[in-house]
Amino acid sequence: MECINHEVQAKGICNNCGKGLCSDCIQFTPSNKLSCSEECTSEITIRETVVSQTLNKTKNSALSGAYGSYVLGAIFIWFGFYTKISELQLFTITVGVGMLAMGAFFHYAAKSKSKQS
Ligand SMILES: [Zn+2]
Ligand SMILES: [Zn+2]
Repeated sequence: MECINHEVQAKGICNNCGKGLCSDCIQFTPSNKLSCSEECTSEITIRETVVSQTLNKTKNSALSGAYGSYVLGAIFIWFGFYTKISELQLFTITVGVGMLAMGAFFHYAAKSKSKQS
């Protein structure tokens, strides 16, 4: 592949538009990706910001889902032990344990996501 501006062998490819670039034409984005122009640099940067923000959002909602489930599970179990209505005891404790398990699952999901990024 040749450089888009010069008739020499390209040393790299723009990460946004895929054009060939020689060492004179290569530009670097703040995240060290190759780019051919200011426009491509800003497009790559915007795309990376959006991706990292989306990842952070899913991670945060999984974590808050985990803590929410822990709290709900604890309340249900506590209620199951203290209620005087025996038919409710088994039900609330079962639901409480299920909530804790769900919290653990969310927690695990949030953890594995943060490992990837
Ligand atoms: Zn480009
Ligand atoms: Zn060039």
